Amino acid sequence: MPGTSERTPEESCTTCHEPKATLKNTSLCGLCQRMSCKACTQFLEPDSFSFLEKIPEHLRHGAYCRACYEEKVAPELAAYAEAMERAKHIYIFYKKHEYLRVIQRSRKILSVRDCKDRKEVLLRLAFLAAQQSFNALVDVELVPEKVRNFGYQTSNWTGTGFPAEVKPDDDVPYPIPSSQKY
Ligand SMILES: [Zn+2]
Ligand SMILES: [Zn+2]
Repeated sequence: MPGTSERTPEESCTTCHEPKATLKNTSLCGLCQRMSCKACTQFLEPDSFSFLEKIPEHLRHGAYCRACYEEKVAPELAAYAEAMERAKHIYIFYKKHEYLRVIQRSRKILSVRDCKDRKEVLLRLAFLAAQQSFNALVDVELVPEKVRNFGYQTSNWTGTGFPAEVKPDDDVPYPIPSSQKY
C-alpha cells in the first residue's frame, strides 16, 4: 500500500501519540511525511477524484495523517461530491436544439475521451459543467469509436459540449435531466 513504511524507533503516531512499541502497519502521510498508526491513517482510493480534469498533486497520495486529511482532502472530497450531485441533474442538449432559451453559454468547449460507454461520457461532461456552476450542456456530440482489443471490438467514447445556463420555458418542451436519459 502506498505510504506504508517501516516504523522508525523514535516515532509515535502523530495523531493519537500511541508509542512506538504498540504500532503496527504504520503509514507515512503523503503530505507531511509524519507517521500514523493504522487506526488513525486516512486512506484515499486512487479513483476518488477521477472526474477532475487534472488531479492536483496533493490529492494523489494513498495515505494521510488525520490533520492533513481534514485540512486538505476532506473539503475537496465534499466539493467533489457536491459537484457530482449537481452533475446528475445537468440538462443535456444535443446539436440542433433550437428551442432552447440559453441565458449564458461558455465559449470554452469541454471534451472528454476514453470513456467506456455513453453514460460515462455524459456524466463526465456534466461533472465538468457542474464544477463551473452551469446547469446544462449544449451542442453535445458523442462519438463511439470502435477499437480492437485483443480480437474483441469495443467502443471508446469521446464527447464534447459547451457548459451553459438555460432557462426552461413553458412554451418549449421541458428539458430532460441527464439522469433520466441514461
Ligand atoms: Zn494513531
Ligand atoms: Zn500529514
